[in-house]
Amino acid sequence: MARYRDAQCRLCRREGEKLFLKGDRCVTDKCAFERRGYAPGQHGHDSRRKISDYGLQLREKQKARRMYGILERQFRNYYEKAARQTGITGENLLMLLESRLDNVIYRLGFAPSRNTARQLVRHRHFTVNERVVDIPSYQVKSGDVVRVRDKSQKLAVIQTALKRIDRRTELPWLQVDKTKMTGQILAVPSRDEIPTPIQEHLIVGLYSK
Ligand code: SF4
Repeated sequence: MARYRDAQCRLCRREGEKLFLKGDRCVTDKCAFERRGYAPGQHGHDSRRKISDYGLQLREKQKARRMYGILERQFRNYYEKAARQTGITGENLLMLLESRLDNVIYRLGFAPSRNTARQLVRHRHFTVNERVVDIPSYQVKSGDVVRVRDKSQKLAVIQTALKRIDRRTELPWLQVDKTKMTGQILAVPSRDEIPTPIQEHLIVGLYSK
């Protein structure tokens, strides 16, 4: 499976905001964006450059893609699926992204970042409804129960994440049981229950041209 392999912090600097791609490091003073909050490259310091409407839409799409760790082709597929659904396309898109198993594991607090969650899923450390799922893009549904497998419960990365689980942003559509290492999806999230700083209408504007 193809994935982005370059420096993650460059992506935050390119988008001009923190995308929280590296877990705990993102909230320390080691964060590259805190130290160099300008775009990478030779012209990164140039703040006089005007950005067109198209540029704004493109940046928003790139930001969302990078935040959820999705490559272009798959992101476009999500958009097309969202456009076919009833309701508001931008909101459908965010709901599809939020329902990815790697995102849910991150949101539940079992992993410090979506990247780590993705890796843990690929390495078969989680079950959904008691069946092992190793596909990070797996779409969870309302009522599903995600669980850390017995053999994986002592993994350092999961144990460290569990210690910080109470500090995560609680979401009304997810319920965590720390002692059983399970999380339940209570409902499909509505837009106001998704704490993601993305202006989805800009992405829809870009793709619907
Ligand atoms: Fe982004 Fe985290 Fe790197 Fe900071 S440490 S630049 S938030 S990935």
